[in-house]
Amino acid sequence: MSPHPVSPAPVPAPSFHGQSPHIVIAGGGVAGLTAALALHAAGFERVTVVEAAPAIRPVGAGLNLMPNAVRELDALGLLDALEAGALRTRELRYYHRSGGLIAREPRGLGAGYRWPQLSVHRGHLQQVLAGAVRARLGPAALVTGVRVSGVELLPGGRPRLFLEHRDGAVRGRASLEPDVLVGADGIRSAVRAALHPGEGCPPWNGMLVWRGVSRMPARAVGSFMLIAGDDRQKAVVYPMGRPTGPGREVLVNWALARPAGAACASAAERLRGDWNRAVPVDTFLPFYDGWEFDGVSVPDVLRAADSAHEYPMVDRDPLDRWSHGRTTLIGDAAHAMYPVGSNGATQSVVDARALAHALAHHADPAEGLAAYERERRPVTTALQQANRELGPEAVIGLAHARAPHGFTDIHDVIPAEELAAVASRYAATGAFDPRTVNLGSPYEVTVPTA
Ligand SMILES: Cc1cc2nc3c(=O)[nH]c(=O)nc-3n(C[C@H](O)[C@H](O)[C@H](O)COP(=O)(O)OP(=O)(O)OC[C@H]3O[C@@H](n4cnc5c(N)ncnc54)[C@H](O)[C@@H]3O)c2cc1C
Repeated sequence: MSPHPVSPAPVPAPSFHGQSPHIVIAGGGVAGLTAALALHAAGFERVTVVEAAPAIRPVGAGLNLMPNAVRELDALGLLDALEAGALRTRELRYYHRSGGLIAREPRGLGAGYRWPQLSVHRGHLQQVLAGAVRARLGPAALVTGVRVSGVELLPGGRPRLFLEHRDGAVRGRASLEPDVLVGADGIRSAVRAALHPGEGCPPWNGMLVWRGVSRMPARAVGSFMLIAGDDRQKAVVYPMGRPTGPGREVLVNWALARPAGAACASAAERLRGDWNRAVPVDTFLPFYDGWEFDGVSVPDVLRAADSAHEYPMVDRDPLDRWSHGRTTLIGDAAHAMYPVGSNGATQSVVDARALAHALAHHADPAEGLAAYERERRPVTTALQQANRELGPEAVIGLAHARAPHGFTDIHDVIPAEELAAVASRYAATGAFDPRTVNLGSPYEVTVPTA
């Protein structure tokens, strides 16, 4: 997809007190690993990612990367590796619970973007990123099995972080004083907790989310992303790979949301928000009885699941400050949002590139972090708020409110202009409309050759 139209002037090799600053990234998820790659591409030589999990394993289900994130991953030279295990999302369809089609939107190249939108397993994305970090920055740049347990800000803004690690059966503790600390440690970030003590658990809206992956014949799931629902519950289903094998099977991602209700265990337990909390499909299968949309049967998809995971619908309240001295936040640690509108991983990738660009253009890292925050915090705050109002998926609630029993022609219920306005307003909120994205990456850093 390169070359990019923007060709910025070279910036001097980043240095702080005469040497390349040591940047520690807490968390080796999508945000942390992309940040390591972006910083390396911007000329930073000493970057270390510390990840609490003992190994980078392909956990989670699927996610969508929108063209603005794919543009940045392309600029990092990762598009081919990513596409080898992903599927281009070409169309999104919204359905009324009764089966009626509310809207269909072309996505990615079909919507006029220069980059595709990708449906991908989170595990594949994380493996591609982790592989590139180890290959480009060296194996020692990604340390697993080490948890950041606390952070202190020293006079002058320098961070001190406390680490806990496990070496076999032996637990160890250590501390480190890098030049810059980036908190990329997700929705329950230890770095964020140190900067904003007393914030507590992520707020919960009372909905539960069930996620999983199924393997099914391609013809049973169509080639589009489906989002269907009514005033209570919704279902999202999409394929995320090309058909393989004699059965022409594809990997299918699905996610469901529904109020927890009285049957739910204690809210406190749900709020742990453990991504690995497995539950039987039968827990929620009956709620989706009869949900079928243009030949895609949601119950059939659920019955074909390898496993199912339950998660509370939690996000974070927007912060009025991410950066304190030489410590900042990116990704979910900075702005966890409801899984609506494909923005969780997308915005994390954009953060990572914006952070590297800002640090490369400021001799003082604290000024670089402040510049990064000035650019990214307003956009992601607007998206967090828009997602609390269900973002582009609000059309489902609108259709249900105006026609609870269904419709013959959606335009009798929601005029075409009103439908289009919901989608374009959301795209404008996140600055990911095709015209803006197609201008090319604003985060290219040209590093002078030695
Ligand atoms: C296991 C898991 C499964 C997920 N599955 C899905 C999914 O199926 N679909 C979806 O849309 N989104 C999923 N997400 C969330 C999604 O990845 C994020 O919303 C988005 O990609 C933003 O990424 P992030 O890097 O900011 O946060 P995350 O992806 O949450 O990554 C944070 C990383 O930091 C590590 N970490 C946490 N605390 C510490 C600490 N104290 N010290 C060091 N490391 C720490 C975590 O182990 C994790 O690797 C999942 C997240 C996780 C952690």
